[in-house]
Amino acid sequence: MISENIYFYYAFPLVMSIAFFWFLLYFYYTKRYTSFVKSFLDLANNIALVHDDKSTISINKIGLNFFGFESLERLNHEYSTISGLFIEEDGCVDKYTYGKDWLKILTEKNQKQIKVKLYSHIDEMEQYFHVQISNMKYQNQYLLIFNNITEIEQEKKEIRKLADYDALTKIYNRVKFNEIFPEVFYKANRYGEKFSVILFDIDHFKLINDNYGHNVGDKVLIELSRLVNMNLRETDIFARWGGEEFIIVAQFSTAEETIKLASRLQKEVENYTFDVVNEVRCSFGVTEFKTKDSQMTILERVDKALYYAKENGRNQVVLR
Ligand code: GH3
Ligand code: MG
Ligand code: MG
Repeated sequence: MISENIYFYYAFPLVMSIAFFWFLLYFYYTKRYTSFVKSFLDLANNIALVHDDKSTISINKIGLNFFGFESLERLNHEYSTISGLFIEEDGCVDKYTYGKDWLKILTEKNQKQIKVKLYSHIDEMEQYFHVQISNMKYQNQYLLIFNNITEIEQEKKEIRKLADYDALTKIYNRVKFNEIFPEVFYKANRYGEKFSVILFDIDHFKLINDNYGHNVGDKVLIELSRLVNMNLRETDIFARWGGEEFIIVAQFSTAEETIKLASRLQKEVENYTFDVVNEVRCSFGVTEFKTKDSQMTILERVDKALYYAKENGRNQVVLR
């Protein structure tokens, strides 16, 4: 009886007090921890928690600002899934990339780098992100972390652009030409689109180098490219074939139209006063695509046409 009283009056309240104390401690630290995690996440990149039904469960403050929403409710009201904000672009994942759903693509095994393009309401521009995805193994939730790679992407674009253009004349180089020409050739064969090619070369350019020096020769190449470029249409493809030799693909043009273009270019060069050297002349070969042509035969034919223009006294246009 006595021992029961002791239990009732002393032990039970003591146990209860300790339990309550632990609960307070636990509550205090859990809250502190949650608020610590929350402020950490708010500081980090755009982070979102999504359900496997693709709805957005949570998003950090940066993410909300980035997407231009005041609250998660507003975001969910406008976009049932966050992928609604993924902008379509080659090489990026969007809502329907490869006809699969985006969350499936993101969670696929062996997926190396997932790139998405998003509009930043903070910087008011489109930006690129790598998306890391982690299965939370809790109520079918996935954590998405968006790492901003805009600067790297921009640098990549710059490098790609540099690789396409000739460093001196700033027109397409031969590598780029070899990339575009098969497409033109394919369209001509597939859809019957006609096209012609002009190959032209500066007459006695070696003399310019010999008489005025290499730098002046370089300047002539720059001036000539600029002059020719000004006389071309948007659809014409203009590239440096090598040295002082240039190639033009006149898309949708017959031989007749292309001879006119080449003759006009010949006259433009003839009438132009170049810096230091004053006079420059060019010889032009022209040929039109024929159905039995391969890429090689058409290039061989235009080379022959240029050869005849040179043989025949230069500063002229020859069709083959
Ligand atoms: P032709 O009328 O038969 O074409 O005679 P050409 O003197 O123009 O032709 P040739 O092939 O004998 O000489 C071309 C010269 O162009 C030789 C080469 O040193 C020069 N050349 C090639 N690329 C460049 C360049 O980027 N800059 C300068 N300055 N010269 C170049
Ligand atoms: Mg030459
Ligand atoms: Mg040459």
